[in-house]
Amino acid sequence: MLDGGKTFITGGRNADRVLVVCRTGTADADDRRGGLSILVVDNTSPGFTVGRTLEKIGLHAQDTVELSFSGVRVPVEDRLGEEGAAFGYLAHNLPQERLTIAVAAVAAAARAVELATGYANERRIFGAPLATFQNSKFVLAECATEVAAAQAMLDQALAAHDRGELDAVDAAKLKLFTTEVQARVVDRCLQLHGGYGYITEYPIARLYADARISRIYGGTSEVMKTIVAKSLDLAR
Ligand SMILES: Cc1cc2nc3c(=O)[nH]c(=O)nc-3n(C[C@H](O)[C@H](O)[C@H](O)COP(=O)(O)OP(=O)(O)OC[C@H]3O[C@@H](n4cnc5c(N)ncnc54)[C@H](O)[C@@H]3O)c2cc1C
Repeated sequence: MLDGGKTFITGGRNADRVLVVCRTGTADADDRRGGLSILVVDNTSPGFTVGRTLEKIGLHAQDTVELSFSGVRVPVEDRLGEEGAAFGYLAHNLPQERLTIAVAAVAAAARAVELATGYANERRIFGAPLATFQNSKFVLAECATEVAAAQAMLDQALAAHDRGELDAVDAAKLKLFTTEVQARVVDRCLQLHGGYGYITEYPIARLYADARISRIYGGTSEVMKTIVAKSLDLAR
C-alpha cells in the first residue's frame, strides 16, 4: 500500500507508468540509504493522481507535475529489483543522468555563442557592426574558450561512460562545470543582444530561461561541490 507524494516530476503528465522510490523498511541509524525500494505504478491504479502542471520560467515544452499516491495497492511482482536496494540502483544511474544534463548544457552554450556571433555581425551601432567593438570580440572570445573547455571535459566523460568508467565524482565535476559555463555564456551572449535579448521571440531569451534549471535539477551545484569535496583529502 503506497501513500505519499512527489513534487517535480518531469514528463509525469504523459507517463503511463511511473517508477516510485518509496520507503518499505525503516532506515538504519548507520545507513540512511537502506529501506528504500522501487515500485512500478500504473497511471490507472486507484489512488494515483497527477496534480497540476507547474508553471516554470523555462523548459515550456516539457511538463513538470506533482504526483500523489493515496492507498495505492501495488502487488509484490511490481517491485523493481530487490527490496531495500533502491538507493544503490539510483546511485548507479546518477552519473549517466548528470552526463545527459552536461550534454545539453554544452550544446546550449555553443548555440548561444553562434546566436550572439550572428547578431553581433548583423546589428549596426553608430554605423558599424556590433562585432567590430573590442568588447564584443573579447566577450565572444572568452565564451568560445569556455565552451571549448566544457566540450573537452564532456568528450572525456563520454569516452569514460562508453568504457563503463564514469564515476560519481567525475560526473559531479562535469555537471558542476558545464552547467556553470552554460549560465555564464548564455547570460553574456544575451547581453550582447541588448534589449532584444529580453524578448522571447529571440532564441537567446529562451536559452536564458531554459538554462536556469541546469544548475538545480539532477542535483544542485552545491550538492555537486559536496560530492567533489568528499573526494578530496580534507579535514572533517
Ligand atoms: C523543472 C524541474 C524538473 C524536475 N524534474 C524532476 C524529475 O523528473 N524527477 C525528480 O526526481 N526530480 C525532479 N526535479 C527535482 C530536482 O532534482 C530538485 O528540485 C533538485 O535536486 C533540488 O532539490 P530541492 O528542490 O529539494 O532543493 P533543496 O534540496 O531544498 O535545496 C535548497 C537549497 O539548499 C541547497 N542545499 C541542499 N543541500 C545542500 C548541502 N548538502 N550543502 C549545501 N547546500 C545544500 C541547494 O543547493 C539549494 O540551493 C525537478 C525540478 C524542477 C524544478
